[in-house]
Amino acid sequence: MNKTILIIEDEPGIRMAIKDELEFEGFQVRLAEDGPAGLESILHSLPHLVVLDLMLPGKNGFEICREIRQRGVTIPVVVLTARGGEVDKIRGLELGADDYITKPFSLAELVARIRAVLRRCDREESGDIIRRGTITVDLRKHQVFKGDTVVEVTDKEFQILALLMKRTSEVVTRDDFLKTIWGEDVYVTHRTVDIHISAVRRKIEDDPEHPSLIVSVRNVGYKFDADV
Ligand code: CA
Repeated sequence: MNKTILIIEDEPGIRMAIKDELEFEGFQVRLAEDGPAGLESILHSLPHLVVLDLMLPGKNGFEICREIRQRGVTIPVVVLTARGGEVDKIRGLELGADDYITKPFSLAELVARIRAVLRRCDREESGDIIRRGTITVDLRKHQVFKGDTVVEVTDKEFQILALLMKRTSEVVTRDDFLKTIWGEDVYVTHRTVDIHISAVRRKIEDDPEHPSLIVSVRNVGYKFDADV
């Protein structure tokens, strides 16, 4: 099946040039020419990938990216930016974009980026990589990333985070953690779980005192919040 790409770009010349190139390359293409129409199209037509211009009428690309990630939409996004400070902003905001390309760009370069991002996502869907918001765990390499930055974790911390993320939005009880991660080790208690959770929070939360990724569920356990 041909993959569907949604292009959200208000400049007709660029929009049509990208459309023609992508269709030539065998993709299905959908178009949106302003922010609100683009957001609507992402949420309702679920394309395989979005090419997103940043400066758009109605709602800009930053807002669109943030909004879809907040809703838990993981569709890959390749951002188009004008020259200037935008690139720093894209990095700094941990926008949730998968790649970006600076205008003016060559269509061949854009297609190459799109193919690379789609390949990466296909691999992720195979289950080796779990990505939720800014946090990524690579189950094969035992690595954790926050944005593009590697987070150093111990083996137990890795297992805790991986278990939480595999079961995103579900409550994982302290007994679940003990059974899955510590097995038959009799010297561990619920307190052991709490201590490890605190350690993971210090490493991945923006504000570990007020965690928004790993939230406590009173008297039960913890869950990884997908809506962040
Ligand atoms: Ca624009």
